[in-house]
Amino acid sequence: MNETLQPGATLGVMGGGQLGRMFVHAAQSLGYETVVLDPDAGAPAGVVAQHQVRAGYLDEAGLAELARRCDAISTEFENVPAEALRQLAERRPVAPGAAAVAVCQDRADEKAQFVRCGVPCAPHALITDAAQLAAVPDALLPGILKTARMGYDGKGQASVADRAALQAAWAHLGHVPCVLEQRLPLRHELSVIVARNAGGELVNLPVQQNLHRDGILAVTQVPAPDIAPALQQQAVAAAREVAAAMDYVGVLCVEFFVLQDGRLVANEMAPRPHNSGHYSIDACDVSQFELQVRTLAGLPLVEPRLHSPAVMLNLLGDLWFDAADSARTPPWDAVLALPGVHLHLYGKTDARRGRKMGHLTVTAPTAAEARAVALRVAALLGLAAF
Ligand code: ATP
Ligand code: MG
Repeated sequence: MNETLQPGATLGVMGGGQLGRMFVHAAQSLGYETVVLDPDAGAPAGVVAQHQVRAGYLDEAGLAELARRCDAISTEFENVPAEALRQLAERRPVAPGAAAVAVCQDRADEKAQFVRCGVPCAPHALITDAAQLAAVPDALLPGILKTARMGYDGKGQASVADRAALQAAWAHLGHVPCVLEQRLPLRHELSVIVARNAGGELVNLPVQQNLHRDGILAVTQVPAPDIAPALQQQAVAAAREVAAAMDYVGVLCVEFFVLQDGRLVANEMAPRPHNSGHYSIDACDVSQFELQVRTLAGLPLVEPRLHSPAVMLNLLGDLWFDAADSARTPPWDAVLALPGVHLHLYGKTDARRGRKMGHLTVTAPTAAEARAVALRVAALLGLAAF
């Protein structure tokens, strides 16, 4: 994986969602050919790539075709079967590797990784059977029960106040392996995105401050307005340590909480570009997707520079419905009349509430101006202020 793939080579990506689409855009901009593997005909990345292999993630013929067409392969969603990455890795360089992706796919393994790196995380217990459920310490309640695998955007989670609620929630989740986390008193949320190449070069984006609504990322602000510099440095050091410890190659996002008492706690990580890093397309001199391309191709990494303060707003499918639940088109012309608005829509035709349809980033000469414009955008779109 130390050989450099020069522009003109073909880069593949497992998964055809919006992250794959933005990876494809970055790869094409650098002169690479792109191939996407995704079973869905209308996949956001599939429609922009030079080629789509339309196959399931464990389809052996599809995986073989992807390997045949590509010089190296990455992934855009963390629930890609580790087995598929293992099969691909027999034929082509794959980054991130199956082992690192497997850690990020399992909340228990992920937390164990944090602990190994000396990074604090929420007090928690693994629940795989009734005995473990009964043995859960009282201190973890009230808590949040999360499926160990396959959760995203707050799906596969339940808030549990007491033991009765815990039992009911575990039944509701189908008795699958879960992690019970103590509900922590959050003051702020932040994330750090790092990129590491096979040569061990490691760079990071500036710290993102994130606001979630209903378990889904709603707003990202950079520079982080409320996080003390020392805490930001601590988060960056932790994320870099975790990536290096896993011998990680690719883009990795680590999410953190700042607690009411000021302590920093790691929440989870994603072995890919992250929604909280989308602002980097418009506000940094190298985006998280270009970093993904560079790590996959074995190109040099340079420390990204934020050239404009930025506010990113997620655009969920809810915006495509009015108060009476009738379909509408959001008022893009009014939004785009404001300065520094960068609109990114993912080409999804079917708007559903809670579905990520796009995002927009506001850049401005100062953080205060970026925030002021973003608040005007939010008002135009009917989004809550922040
Ligand atoms: P993602 O879309 O980031 O993959 P996810 O479904 O994996 O989300 P988490 O990141 O675990 O879910 O949790 C979603 C949100 O729920 C967090 O960003 C935070 O706001 C809240 N949350 C999660 N765990 C805790 C906790 N232990 N205490 C308090 N709040 C929490
Ligand atoms: Mg999360």
